Amino acid sequence: MSIRVGVTADSRFGTNSYLVEDDETHDAVVIDANLEPEHMIDLVRRRDARVKAILLTHTDVDHVAGLPALLDAFGPVPVAVHDEERPVVAEGRPLRREFAPDATRVDNVTSLVEGRVFRAGSLAFEVLHTPGHSPGGVTLKVGDHLFTGDALFAGSIGRSDFGNSNSAALLEGIHAKLLSQPDHLIVHSGHGPATTIGEERRTNPFLR
Ligand SMILES: [Zn+2]
Repeated sequence: MSIRVGVTADSRFGTNSYLVEDDETHDAVVIDANLEPEHMIDLVRRRDARVKAILLTHTDVDHVAGLPALLDAFGPVPVAVHDEERPVVAEGRPLRREFAPDATRVDNVTSLVEGRVFRAGSLAFEVLHTPGHSPGGVTLKVGDHLFTGDALFAGSIGRSDFGNSNSAALLEGIHAKLLSQPDHLIVHSGHGPATTIGEERRTNPFLR
């Protein structure tokens, strides 16, 4: 299987949305739904990708706000999220007590479960629970690619100063589930540029 990764970012928070496509079948998923979904909709149409599901690394508003527009464009595909954050998208409950509730609520919600492969068409994702920035934070692994959400960034790690954050869990998850991966794996973060596991193991000042 040959995986092709495309990215769009919104201009307000620089939040990344990814298009992950099987180059042979054109089956695809979108990972995270940033504040400017029109860019992702354009990308999907240009590539002629067949979006089978939308996967969420976590449910902060800048990662889910584009869901209604994406679902309008791609049809009622399943939206997959860790159970700890399912009520945020299934019931429209706020993720953070620090922020006003947002109204992003969708119907067809399914679960991302640690250790259970998530299949979408010809694509298969390994699910790694990497909480700490938020309780249901996950990293999605396919081929040589890791989608780490707001757990791990190039040169940094996610915020853990919210009421439902946990800095110890964040670091433990990064060390146990991410830094244990091979050096050459490509890290695609919720914000900012791509990096590799090897680069972060060597240079990330938060992981010393
Ligand atoms: Zn974010």
